Amino acid sequence: MGVCGKREFELLNKIGFVRYGGSEEELKAANMLLDELNTLGVKGELEPFKVTYYDVKKVKFEVLEPFCQEYTVRGYGLSGNTPAEGLTAEFEYVEQAEKVNLLNAKGKIVMVNGNVTTTMYKNIVEAGAVGFVSFSGTAIDDVELTDIEMRTLKEDYLKYGKIPGITMRVRDAMEMVKAGACKVRMTLEQEEGETDSHNVLAQIEGTEYPDEVVTFVAHYDSTPFSNGVYDNGGGTVIIMEMLRHYLENPPKRTVRFVWFGSEERGLLGSKYFVANHEEDLKKMVLLINVDMAGPIIGSDRAYVTADMSLKHMVDYLASEVGHPIISVQDVYSSDSTPFAEKGVPAISFARFGAAGSAPGHNRYDLIEHLSAESLQHTSDFIEVFSDRIINSVVFPVPQEIPENMVKAVDKYMHRNQPKK
Ligand SMILES: [Zn+2]
Repeated sequence: MGVCGKREFELLNKIGFVRYGGSEEELKAANMLLDELNTLGVKGELEPFKVTYYDVKKVKFEVLEPFCQEYTVRGYGLSGNTPAEGLTAEFEYVEQAEKVNLLNAKGKIVMVNGNVTTTMYKNIVEAGAVGFVSFSGTAIDDVELTDIEMRTLKEDYLKYGKIPGITMRVRDAMEMVKAGACKVRMTLEQEEGETDSHNVLAQIEGTEYPDEVVTFVAHYDSTPFSNGVYDNGGGTVIIMEMLRHYLENPPKRTVRFVWFGSEERGLLGSKYFVANHEEDLKKMVLLINVDMAGPIIGSDRAYVTADMSLKHMVDYLASEVGHPIISVQDVYSSDSTPFAEKGVPAISFARFGAAGSAPGHNRYDLIEHLSAESLQHTSDFIEVFSDRIINSVVFPVPQEIPENMVKAVDKYMHRNQPKK
């Protein structure tokens, strides 16, 4: 075996800082990947694409009646501004924001359960509400030890209109409902605009079938407040190690590498890529995605968004080499899906932490929950799988997405969309 978990772990340590899509830190991480490529003698490329950006200058949320209380909240990104003196309105808790919840919502600031889905947002705006409140966390959170989630109104929400919103802690939300809060003031001031996020690209030409391309991908961005080592520094360093492996062992087919930016913001890097590399997609015979890896305790997974025969191949190979892995034919919530939607067969590898062992998407995605041995374990199988596939005499993966996966991909890509 050529791949080295220790080397992967060292690179993981370097890139283990918060790298939110479109931020300076994300670009810093992209440049670190470019440096790494340079060290290996490979010319990498940064591919910029536009993402929205916001900066909350001021946010405040007060209950005015029947009691006075100010709560710590976070402004909802890209939800616009209130008047400078704040937006004072009646308050109502509207649960899941079904139409029946919203009969009296006109002119009010409404609070919904948890996060605001597209359907909830559409209903709220159409009901004439003037502001919204979402909440995050759990009732048992220690205020000092948790962050209120940073949330953003995505583009497909804005077609229904724009009203300002905030996110608060679930315990505070409960307190408000219990005490019968009925009048509130929301103050939100934010700067909104566009900035660049980046994909990082590299390639090694195939020796025998250069026009058949196997593409390794992993997203290197993180969610806010998260060091993103488990999700997805792990995948980031594993595919870097695969690149090193194919430099040392020239592949029969061309291998491409793409590290995506802004995955956590809604697969923005991979969506940009598939929309802007139509010609390249035709040559792509398989996509190998790695998203989430490294937990000390856990289990390896493979999500096959391709013909069932590829799942069987994974199972047989796992038995042959003695590697435990749970495989399914399914969609994986990651960058593989936009490719599958375009007809590129995809497989996503991951190692999921055992329940409770490796938190993600928050400040507890920490390197101490991960190990070099774990990365080595997962990488060893990806290496043997990739070698078999990439150096096949005849490429074994059917170049089509089966009907059941077409449906599953379609459902995933259009989830949360309100029914017409
Ligand atoms: Zn991820």
